[in-house]
Order: sequence, then C-alpha cells, then structure tokens
Amino acid sequence: MTRADDLGARLGVVLARIAAACDAAGRSPGDVTLVAVSKTWPASDVLVLNGLGVADFGESYDAEAAAKATALRQAGVTPCWHFVGGLQRNKARSVAGYADVVHSLDRSEVVDALGTAAARAGRVVTGLVQVSYDEGPGRSGAAPEDVERLADRVAATEGLAFGGLMCVAPLGEPPRPVFARLRALSETVRRAHPGAVTISAGMTADLADAVAEGANCVRVGTALFGGRGPRLG
Ligand SMILES: *Cc1c(COP(=O)(O)O)cnc(C)c1O
Repeated sequence: MTRADDLGARLGVVLARIAAACDAAGRSPGDVTLVAVSKTWPASDVLVLNGLGVADFGESYDAEAAAKATALRQAGVTPCWHFVGGLQRNKARSVAGYADVVHSLDRSEVVDALGTAAARAGRVVTGLVQVSYDEGPGRSGAAPEDVERLADRVAATEGLAFGGLMCVAPLGEPPRPVFARLRALSETVRRAHPGAVTISAGMTADLADAVAEGANCVRVGTALFGGRGPRLG
C-alpha cells in the first residue's frame, strides 16, 4: 500500500468514527470539524489529505509548523492552520504569521503577544482559551475560574477574534465528565460572547466522548497518520 492509500484508508476510518459518534448523539457530522494534527508528519502527507478534502491541519511546534505552512503555500495549497501546542511569548510573532486559529491561549501574556503580532502583520487570528482540568504544576491551560476573564481579554484584543474553548482531557481519568464540564463552561462564556461557539475537544482516543458532550472541533493525529516518532524541527 502506498502512503496515500494508507492515509486515505485511515481518513475513512476516522470519518466513520466521527459519523458514528454524531449519530449516537443525534448530531450532524457536518457540525464537527476534523483538525488533522500533522505534527511530526511531512508536508507531503498534508497535501494528500488536503486532496482528499481535509481543510484543517493542526501543529504543535512552531519551527516545524512554519516550514510546513511555507512548503504548502509554495505548492499552491492554503489549508486552515491550527496551532494546538503550548505557545511561548517569543514564538507569538512567528505563529501569528501562519496560524489561522490558536487553540492554546492560557494566560494574558500570550494573548497580548499574539494579538500584537497579528495586528502588526495585518491579520486576525482566532484564539481559543485552553482550559485545564488537571491539578498540579506543569499543566497547560488556564484554571477554569480564570477562563471568563481570559475570554474577555481575547475578545478585547486587536488582532484576535475570540472563538471559544479548548481542552485536553487529563490522562488517567474518564474523559467524558471532563468534556461535560467544558461544555458547561462554554455555555457560561457564550453569555458574554455569543459567537464564540467552538468547543475543541477530543483526540484519537476520546473523540466519541467529546462529540457526545458537544465538541464541534476534534483534533486527531495518531488515527490519521500513525504513531508519532521523534519530533521534527
Ligand atoms: C498531538 C495533539 C493532538 C492529537 O493527538 P492524537 O492522540 O495523536 O490524536 C491533539 N491535540 C493536541 C493539543 C495535541 O498536542
């Protein structure tokens, strides 16, 4: 089997999983955006999936993402790029140059840095606030009680549009109750920001639970591309 056949077969499986999850939840598959998380995989894979109709790609590492976005642009392809990794303030300028959606805004410094960089570049980047349901140090994401304040800040920042919320379910606990909390928090935040409807939740292992709890953006890497090796770039 060629790599293109492999990617096509994997895409079919993932789309069927999303359709089944939507069916079980009484939702339409058209309401769920598949973000293909292409981190560590080459631009050629992105080209194949884009040719099969995938329009959204997610990346986690700035240097790799910037190179891939440039390669795709040179190939005449401009998918919607989602930056889903941890964002450092010193990467904001680079990320603002290619990302259409940043899923990982979790503190005011990165909100401000990304907004300044996007405005200078004459772009508007959609920002999601990443929520953490993990206790303890080293987590990424804002504590749930800080989310409304951060949402207001994203919405008020030039160069940014507030799009909604994102979370990664903590390891080692059932994901569905976490996704239920995210859905409830999204409802709260939408009282002040009715257009911020994105709920980015669900990955290879837990996308059905996320769709059951209202996720409308799932971020899938492994099921589409295979197991990841060492990171590039
Ligand atoms: C890598 C990554 C994914 C994809 O995870 P898989 O388990 O490979 O589907 C989704 N979201 C984020 C934030 C990631 O870093």
